[in-house]
Amino acid sequence: MLSLREVSVRYDGSPALTDVSLDLPDGQVLAVLGPSGSGKSTLLRAVAGLEQSTGTIAWDDRDLTGVPTHKRGFALMFQDGQLFGHLTVAANVGYPLRLRHVPRPRRRERVAELLALVGLAGYERRLPGTLSGGERQRVALARALAVEPRLLLLDEPLSALDAGLRGRLAADLRAILVAAGTTALLVTHDQEEAYAVADRLAVVRAGRLVQEGPVAQVWQRPADPETALFLGYARVLEGAPAAAVLAAAGVGHAGPATVAVRRSALVLAEDGPLSGVVVQARATPDQVRLVVDVDGVGEMDAVAGSAAHPGPGEKVRLRADQDRLSILS
Ligand code: ADP
Ligand code: MG
Repeated sequence: MLSLREVSVRYDGSPALTDVSLDLPDGQVLAVLGPSGSGKSTLLRAVAGLEQSTGTIAWDDRDLTGVPTHKRGFALMFQDGQLFGHLTVAANVGYPLRLRHVPRPRRRERVAELLALVGLAGYERRLPGTLSGGERQRVALARALAVEPRLLLLDEPLSALDAGLRGRLAADLRAILVAAGTTALLVTHDQEEAYAVADRLAVVRAGRLVQEGPVAQVWQRPADPETALFLGYARVLEGAPAAAVLAAAGVGHAGPATVAVRRSALVLAEDGPLSGVVVQARATPDQVRLVVDVDGVGEMDAVAGSAAHPGPGEKVRLRADQDRLSILS
């Protein structure tokens, strides 16, 4: 298993990564999630041995300091899969095997196996230029898995793809990693990508680890307001507004609370405990998204079923869904 202890990286004296400690057990997928510039790629590069770091990076208790990148047994995959454009898919996927002098028949067999794994059976003779972005990333993934790395390092592997494809490929990526039993460290700024692919989540901000744990636990209990907002909560309430929303959700809480609220936490309901005036209404295929000036709370996002037609200025009642709230403190 991979262990990081107080790992720090500085560029020209300024810190890019500070005292990061993490464990990644075998067979698990950990997503390091953070905004752009928070040190994610730096962390990955340090693990790969491409960046000088202080602290300890170890595999199965063996310190990797001084072990060169190609001897770590890790594979790397980037945002743009970096395929060789002049080589066929088979030659790209088989490239690491050729470097290791795997005999041609075995190589051919393994390439077919890998292409099947990533859903591209029969693509052997295609050139990268004839593939879609998603297909190219699958080929890059097959190549990264070719030599069965003990750790796969993925740097924003889906970020270059358009949104719809990204969602589908994220689910496929998870299935492929699980099927191959791969231990993987993925870094991304995209929450959905992290939720779809990982078992565990580590949130970084300004080079520091702010929270780590199983995906659902981090999502349900963000460490602080900034983390909650980064994880996709719409608002963080304090004082009387927080108390009003908690009461409406039927959640008891002693003393002042800080509450993170998802966009869909307030729902239009005739007999709801909250009242307010619609400020904005926008219909989407699934629901109507509202902004409501809620009495005692202030302007909040809310949702209504697509059959509802509340317009600006209209008085409405709302209930609060306790599964879409998180009490931060
Ligand atoms: P992320 O991948 O989260 O977007 P990076 O790890 O690439 O962030 O960068 C973290 C910080 O380190 C940023 O402020 C970036 O400008 C800086 N940085 C990254 N690489 C270098 C480098 N080679 N030299 C100097 N500063 C760098
Ligand atoms: Mg990066």
